[in-house]
Amino acid sequence: MAIQRTFSIIKPDATARNLTGKINAVFEDAGLRIVGQRRIRMTDEQAKRFYAVHAERPFYGELVDFMTSGPVVVQVLEGENAVAKHREVMGATNPAEAAEGTVRKLYAQSIGENSVHGSDSEENAKIEIAQFFSEADIAG
Ligand code: GDP
Repeated sequence: MAIQRTFSIIKPDATARNLTGKINAVFEDAGLRIVGQRRIRMTDEQAKRFYAVHAERPFYGELVDFMTSGPVVVQVLEGENAVAKHREVMGATNPAEAAEGTVRKLYAQSIGENSVHGSDSEENAKIEIAQFFSEADIAG
């Protein structure tokens, strides 16, 4: 299996509860390496662009408000099969449906405030990484 990179966000509900280290430990224990990481305050424009695919969904406004409500940690994770592995350790979108031991089962508060984002394909990972990182800020 090839080494891949994926894009991850530790969302405002998690940074507010000081969970960055605990969530990173779940990722690292799964064999993912944090090869880029920055704590930022997302602008309205960045959040709208990032979630543009959901623009027609009823929760879009709520999602943009949430993602700009506090600091987030944007990350590049690297490892074998990183996109699928990261999605697996994140758990289902709705924490009520997330498997034991996943980040969302452990820490998410609701389907909206669900602690983490992860790219859903390698193609999207490349697009999302490029929105927040230059190659010079990633060291594998
Ligand atoms: P993901 O890939 O597991 O993050 O899920 P989606 O791509 O379906 O949704 C993107 C994000 O939108 C989720 O992680 C949630 O933060 C948010 N979201 C999804 N469904 C809902 C919903 O029904 N209500 C609210 N408030 N937010 C939602």
